[in-house]
Amino acid sequence: MKYDAVIVGGGPAGSVTARFAAEAGAKVLIVERRAEIGVPVLCGEGISQRIDNWGMLEGKKWIASTMDGAKIFSPDGTMVTLSKEIAGDETGYVVYRDIFDQELARKAAQAGADIRLKTKAVGLLKKNDKISGVKVQEFDETYDIEADIVVGADGVESKVGHWAGLDTIVKPRDLETCVQYTLTNVDYNTDYCEFYLGKEIAPGGYVWIFPKGKGTYNVGIGILASLSRPGKAKQLLDRFIAGRPELQKGEPLRFIAGAVPVAKPVRTVADNLLLVGDAARHADAITGGGLTTSLQGGKIAGDVIGQAVEHHIFDEDFLSSYEKQWKAEFGKKLLRDYMVKEIMLDFDDKTLNMLADSLKNYKFEEFSTLSLVKALVLKHPTLLMKLKPLMKLSEVQG
Ligand SMILES: Cc1cc2nc3c(=O)[nH]c(=O)nc-3n(C[C@H](O)[C@H](O)[C@H](O)COP(=O)(O)OP(=O)(O)OC[C@H]3O[C@@H](n4cnc5c(N)ncnc54)[C@H](O)[C@@H]3O)c2cc1C
Repeated sequence: MKYDAVIVGGGPAGSVTARFAAEAGAKVLIVERRAEIGVPVLCGEGISQRIDNWGMLEGKKWIASTMDGAKIFSPDGTMVTLSKEIAGDETGYVVYRDIFDQELARKAAQAGADIRLKTKAVGLLKKNDKISGVKVQEFDETYDIEADIVVGADGVESKVGHWAGLDTIVKPRDLETCVQYTLTNVDYNTDYCEFYLGKEIAPGGYVWIFPKGKGTYNVGIGILASLSRPGKAKQLLDRFIAGRPELQKGEPLRFIAGAVPVAKPVRTVADNLLLVGDAARHADAITGGGLTTSLQGGKIAGDVIGQAVEHHIFDEDFLSSYEKQWKAEFGKKLLRDYMVKEIMLDFDDKTLNMLADSLKNYKFEEFSTLSLVKALVLKHPTLLMKLKPLMKLSEVQG
């Protein structure tokens, strides 16, 4: 069995990579360990409406609801409202992730990609010391799949990069432990995604309430693994819900637990190998959102695979074009948001309240990191030292 590219993981990053590689003429296979694409859903299901411009999803069946923006609440309840245009990558739509993922996989199949379910990659193949495919386990059978390029689209628990010798280790300080209920019959009405901050509420993370329509809400929490212990995320979420009668009235349709990397992106190419999506640590370090960058990175990866197949060059040098392009498209934002995360981790609840108070009437239409930091420093000169690294970065980027 020989393919131009074998893609490990049939999540958004894998399917989009497969689609664009296949459209560029490559013979592509997705191997997915699950029995159904997109199931079980492990997501808050929020995504920016920017994806409308990318034409990657047909129809509207994957959209559960459309948001007006985001509301962020500081520990003392001060609210900062952001319009959907500037609210970040996790607001705009709340989606049905299972339908969303299956629509992306359908587009990959339509472009000519093959898909194998219940097929888990268990190691890399090597020929003359070069990666030459993957060893897989399909049900009880183990066999080899040869390929010129292996793509690690295997999510937060990614092993593919590690097998290839890339440093993909995520430290507990760079990992969010998440749990979420989908609650229905909730007596609450909003078209905003809501985020609740505070060391007591969600240490190193936040609680989210994302409306899915018809009284149904994704209510979840992410806390930093380094500040967590077994069961803590669920305990904190249960406590949050218990304090909100309108949520307490809801009944659960789904409970999930998962993790999101909030790390710096890693080296994403090697000879005959690419990493995309969460496997590339492309999730945003502030929000933990990784859907938009999975789509963006997947498209770039697919295009580059197409070119590599056309020229029959699969070395790191050629494939580095993928890394250059994703860095140009969203690399600076990932790095900036990682720095913001690190700075915010030092903020106590009092500082968060103070920041929210200064920002509650801020005209966010003029949003840029630099203008935001300047406004904060003007009001709170004591923050100057803490925000200085961010200011330097923003001066370069605007
Ligand atoms: C609780 C929670 C809430 C979240 N909420 C949001 C949100 O609201 N908005 C947002 O943008 N992001 C959110 N995220 C993050 C988002 O889900 C990920 O960034 C996104 O799924 C990344 O896509 P991916 O394709 O890289 O990885 P995944 O979607 O994780 O897909 C990886 C796939 O690889 C498969 N796989 C793994 N190992 C192997 C193997 N060895 N062989 C074969 N297959 C394998 C897995 O089964 C999986 O299907 C959330 C994450 C969690 C856990």
